[in-house]
Amino acid sequence: MHRNFKQVSRVVFGHGCFDQLDDILKEKRINSKKMVFLVDHVFKGSELEKKVPLHKNDELIFVDVTYEPKTSYVDKIRDDIKNSSDLLPDGIIGIGGGSTMDMAKAVSLMLTNEGQSHEYQGWDLIKKPGVYKVGIPTLSGTGAEVSRTCVLTGPVRKLGLNSDYTVFDQMVLDPELIKNAPRDQWFYTGMDCFIHNIEALEGTYINEFARAYGEKSQALCEQVFLEDHPDSDDKLMMASYFGGMSIAYSQVGACHALSYGLAFVLGVKHGIGNCLAFNQLEDFYPQGVEKFKKMMDKHKIELPVKITKDLSQQQFEKMADICLGLDPLWENALGKNWKNIMTKDKVLKLYEKI
Ligand code: NAD
Ligand code: ZN
Repeated sequence: MHRNFKQVSRVVFGHGCFDQLDDILKEKRINSKKMVFLVDHVFKGSELEKKVPLHKNDELIFVDVTYEPKTSYVDKIRDDIKNSSDLLPDGIIGIGGGSTMDMAKAVSLMLTNEGQSHEYQGWDLIKKPGVYKVGIPTLSGTGAEVSRTCVLTGPVRKLGLNSDYTVFDQMVLDPELIKNAPRDQWFYTGMDCFIHNIEALEGTYINEFARAYGEKSQALCEQVFLEDHPDSDDKLMMASYFGGMSIAYSQVGACHALSYGLAFVLGVKHGIGNCLAFNQLEDFYPQGVEKFKKMMDKHKIELPVKITKDLSQQQFEKMADICLGLDPLWENALGKNWKNIMTKDKVLKLYEKI
């Protein structure tokens, strides 16, 4: 069956467009007239915090993204919001990187779907629309602003709430918000996009929909990370958007599979985990890895080395099992016959090198 793909219905793009947020929200203040802004904690006390268009009943909650989002954290914020008022807010606005945007999506959904968020980790388990939600990236690369998932770590698994209801209603893409991100974080999150494109374009699931978006996103990534352009923030923002659209209609591959294993056992974050894995994947994606190394050199990025050296055999095995459990990613990377090609032994050898 072909995917009937739900998209974000409204998008505003351009320098300073964050200032239009108050206007955008005005017509959505219908019932409780209350908006809840979930803002990445890094912006506490910043100019951006002062620009959040707070009205009398609105609430601003700083989201602690020291760790990637957990289901328990989503449920706690949902409970706090519900306890603060009898009426649901008219909107949830997520301002931050992929972690904060995913928190905003999840909180919006859990305000209207009963129970605990870990019960909805999976595909199409969410049955009711959440409250109106807006995504405003302050880092670009994950594609979380366009995707139909919000990735959460629950008591037993790291898995998103994947559903059509998960998609934002509005995106605000203001390149001013990403321009001051620390260079290493900017690079790691940007590489998530570069790697999405390589994995989609070189995967067996590729089709013209995914290729059209993926090729443009890739060209933009190369301009951003291998050349020098005054408008590189604009380019990276659009690369992330298009990269997200590309994988929405294809799939990621070997690098993301390895990165999920690192995240589960070592808590390695998505962007840097992808870089660590991709750095070892020249046999899979030779041209992509060559470009990636050039990008690291140009931006003087030094990855941590041998992060798996102190792991026990049991932890290595767990990592390999998580990694090999991601069938669609491997099928996309290597074809239907992937189990004969990607043995556990090969996965363990790759992990030893990371
Ligand atoms: P992030 O949101 O985890 O943030 C990384 C760090 O950068 C944090 O310390 C944050 O405080 C800081 N930060 C954010 N914006 C900043 C800015 N402008 N200036 C200074 N510091 C800033 O990073 P990310 O790479 O954007 O997101 C990774 C998360 O996204 C993971 O949780 C991953 O699971 C998720 N993800 C989701 C999707 C999806 O489709 N929903 C796809 C890929 C990844
Ligand atoms: Zn990714």
